[in-house]
Amino acid sequence: MTPSGGRHRPPSERPTRTCAHCLRPFTWRKKWARVWDEVKYCSERCRRSARG
Ligand SMILES: [Zn+2]
Repeated sequence: MTPSGGRHRPPSERPTRTCAHCLRPFTWRKKWARVWDEVKYCSERCRRSARG
């Protein structure tokens, strides 16, 4: 196995995304490292509110 694309990013280049509920920008967090592609809301509150 050969590692590819395993380059570490400095903290200043963390990705950002807009919350699908409150439309505010939020920044990548370590707890989302595994699920970042699925994260749509900035917080648990927004996620619950959006789902009703
Ligand atoms: Zn939000």
